[in-house]
Amino acid sequence: MNTPLEQVDAALQEAQIAFFSYKNSSRKMKAEFLRAIAEQIEALGGELVSTAMRETNLPEARIVGERGRTTGQCRMFADLVEQGDWVEARIDTALPDRAPLPKPDIRKMLIPVGPVVVFGAANFPLAYSTAGGDTVSALAAGCPVIVKAHPAHTATSELVASAIKKAVDKTGLPKGVFQHLHGNGFELGQALVKHPLTKAVGFTGSLAGGKALFDLACQRPQPIPVFAEMSSINPVILLPKTLSQQAEKTAATLVASITQGVGQFCTNPGLIIAIENEGLDKFIKSLSEGISNSLPGALLHQGIANNYNKRLTHALEQNGVTIEGQSTSSVIDNQGKPLVASVHATTFLTNPLLAEEVFGPFSLIVKCKDISELNAVVSHLNGQLTASILGDENEVATYSSLINTLIEKTGRLIINGVPTGVEVCPSMTHGGPFPATTDSRFTSVGTDAIKRFVRPVSFQNFPQRLLPDELKDNNPLGIWRLFNNEWKK
Ligand code: NAP
Repeated sequence: MNTPLEQVDAALQEAQIAFFSYKNSSRKMKAEFLRAIAEQIEALGGELVSTAMRETNLPEARIVGERGRTTGQCRMFADLVEQGDWVEARIDTALPDRAPLPKPDIRKMLIPVGPVVVFGAANFPLAYSTAGGDTVSALAAGCPVIVKAHPAHTATSELVASAIKKAVDKTGLPKGVFQHLHGNGFELGQALVKHPLTKAVGFTGSLAGGKALFDLACQRPQPIPVFAEMSSINPVILLPKTLSQQAEKTAATLVASITQGVGQFCTNPGLIIAIENEGLDKFIKSLSEGISNSLPGALLHQGIANNYNKRLTHALEQNGVTIEGQSTSSVIDNQGKPLVASVHATTFLTNPLLAEEVFGPFSLIVKCKDISELNAVVSHLNGQLTASILGDENEVATYSSLINTLIEKTGRLIINGVPTGVEVCPSMTHGGPFPATTDSRFTSVGTDAIKRFVRPVSFQNFPQRLLPDELKDNNPLGIWRLFNNEWKK
């Protein structure tokens, strides 16, 4: 039996060998591989669904939906790679007669960075895990991937890994293109991040875990990027006039969002901010009733259940925090009890603990006495994946300065909608300033997720036959390029 360090070294040597052929495989071959992954995952059938249900406590409909999202992502990246424009080809031809100095021929495109390590997420056993967005965007870029299976769903991860390995065999790619390792405890994961052949890391999980791996990567002799998605409380701001008119409707929408998936979404609305008035009182009454009638649900694993109970207790112990409503059903050990509490803005502003993520079906209402206090609360927020403003168009326009502040804090701004439900499409940003992620310039959802695993390279004075096809004069791939400052196909 190899030690974790030996396993990691063997995996990275294998990945590095695979990288040198995989990065140069055709667009068609990479697209075929990604589509084969989707087919092989589908071929796992009911076994995958029942295994994931058993390991995560998630219901069948959710797992089936997530499987569709996972295979959809594989096919989305297959289309992207096949189309080829994502390499952002730029061509500036030479100006030999330019005075005072001639201009050389310079051409640029994006290329894959090398072997990528992925830490699967507990809360999305399929779509953010073994064949999730991190893995398929890295494979699409041309990077081999090593997945560290999440310890809470090892059998699900093993099944999905077997599907990817079959896709590797079917398309005749080297086996080092995808590898799957298990390891409880931090030794294996840390060794993967520290290995000199690892060139980037994708992670979804706790702030402590993501930040520890990020720090480790920065301390390497050759630092590498860690794209970690960690902690967000997704503030929802309720504007006063609209809230007075729609208190019950708004409360019902938020009850559904807070309790969806037992609150275990990175986009769970953990903070509600509003100005005190009759509308807010009506809203809180209605929200509290809805939460009281909500059923507790089993959380993903005992560690998450323990964390939820610990963090919830800690939040409720803080001075000035009042419970407004909680599920009246009894709760067993691994379940999360839906609960909403409130606090006055002055207290929220002076206690940083109240702005920390409580991962589960919990939301804190911050009561502001006026707009200037609401502005102060918004200015005080940490980085977020999302921020929502609920109000009719005219009222939102009246409070447009809020947008100006919120845009500095978040990756996605929502008007009249809740943060749960992340659409997978090219325009999606699923990312945001720290601590939401370690790098707010990137998204982990949508086609631009590929940009985390590439780097630009310029080719100067290259003869045509030595250039990559994407940069040749005659455009053999028919992709969009910026050719002497003009977009051309
Ligand atoms: P986690 O504890 O951060 O673990 C995620 C993965 O990272 C696991 O594979 C874990 O390995 C590894 N890991 C964590 N810290 C590490 C370190 N210092 N060195 C090396 N590897 C490390 O996350 P989790 O178990 O999925 O959930 C725990 C908490 O994270 C939740 O209660 C919740 O608060 C938060 N969470 C947030 C989100 C979000 O989207 N915001 C999503 C999921 C979880 P091992 O466990 O095998 O050692």
